[in-house]
Amino acid sequence: MAKVIIIGAGGVGRVVAHKCAQVPEVFSEIMLASRTRSKCDEIAKSIPHRTIQTAQVDAENVPELLALLQSFKPDLVINVALPYQDLFIMDACLEAGVHYLDTANYEPKNEAKFEYSWQWAYADKFKEKNLTAILGCGFDPGQTQIYTAYATKHYFDEIHYLDIVDCNGGDHGKAFATNFNPEINIREITQKGKFWKNGDWVKTEPYEIMVPLKYPNIGVRNSYLMYHEELESLVKNFPTLKQARFWMTFGDEYLTHLRVIQNIGMASIEPILYKGVEIVPLQFLKETLPKPESLGKNYTGETSIGCRIKGIKDGKEKTFSIWNNCSHQEAFNETGAQGVSYTTGVPAMLGALMVLTNEWKKPGVFNVEELNPDPFMEKIGSYGLPWQIEENIDLELPY
Ligand code: NDP
Repeated sequence: MAKVIIIGAGGVGRVVAHKCAQVPEVFSEIMLASRTRSKCDEIAKSIPHRTIQTAQVDAENVPELLALLQSFKPDLVINVALPYQDLFIMDACLEAGVHYLDTANYEPKNEAKFEYSWQWAYADKFKEKNLTAILGCGFDPGQTQIYTAYATKHYFDEIHYLDIVDCNGGDHGKAFATNFNPEINIREITQKGKFWKNGDWVKTEPYEIMVPLKYPNIGVRNSYLMYHEELESLVKNFPTLKQARFWMTFGDEYLTHLRVIQNIGMASIEPILYKGVEIVPLQFLKETLPKPESLGKNYTGETSIGCRIKGIKDGKEKTFSIWNNCSHQEAFNETGAQGVSYTTGVPAMLGALMVLTNEWKKPGVFNVEELNPDPFMEKIGSYGLPWQIEENIDLELPY
């Protein structure tokens, strides 16, 4: 029996609230807090069988956060607001003596920079306070690292090549939309690419390297190499890796829109003056794009995200693939949110459950591959994200 606060009432916050509400034996009291309280109230109303308390909070204001934590007295915060708020929420958790979990690493607003250094620097503080902080417990980052830990523990003696493959084979019927916060998403995918090879990072231009990959139940999709934050912790925690890459599928139509957005300056995070008011073009663009949480209703198709791994078992080279497919329609029918929010929110709820049931409760700051994958893997299927495995197959990737 534990009390949890979910911070952030977007698509992911909706899924986390629904999923926590389904497990009353662990999450006995739930509060949903965000910048706009009406959004929390609307989500709470969509879960009629449980009482979800709601609150307004500015998660960039530590005293305000602290007051909320001290009045509600949660055991754990699930942070599914934006990456900009991570450090403020971690500070408030330390002060209030509350465990912490998020799904995306801290980013400073004025620079699209993806690294764990800021949050890893909190390790000693969380240790001293005997508190747990779990970083990046969505799908990717998140479940992909748990898959890697599970594969390493049970299927290999050493892993050498890791490819995380992320396909959204869904169709929302819009000309252009992003599946999670547009500002965060566009900052991420317009960055230069980067992958790990023989102990160093190799840089690439955005969308420079593409391979067609076949995804179960979806078919062949153009998959582009890009940098993704979990690569940083994976190469640190699995030093036998000779190569680690991340691939994401994009359709031609999507890439054409993105190119235009970049070419006309709308992806810029540099403030400009508009009629005497300072605005950030990307933040303005976000307001004009479809809200990710509005995409669910007519979304068809599936996501397919997993890890393709090559390594050694009993002296022989072996290949291994592990993945989950998630239907946008089924996710929407259950929670009112599309598959990308669902695949993020379910691991966040289960990660929180792992801490609260002592499986992952230990002092410090951890990326999820550092924790025992077994209890998580035992349960994740029954909470909505079953996984499948194939061994000794063609991984279709260039090495
Ligand atoms: P949304 O933009 O839909 O939701 C973000 C929510 O955070 C909104 O409700 C927003 O409030 C709230 N918020 C923003 N700023 C503040 C603030 N200062 N104080 C309080 N609340 C604030 O995003 P998503 O739900 O799509 O994504 C949530 C998180 O999940 C993001 O960090 C994203 O990067 C991460 N993510 C992780 C994935 C993974 O696999 N690991 C995949 C997809 C997303 P308001 O409603 O007022 O705007």
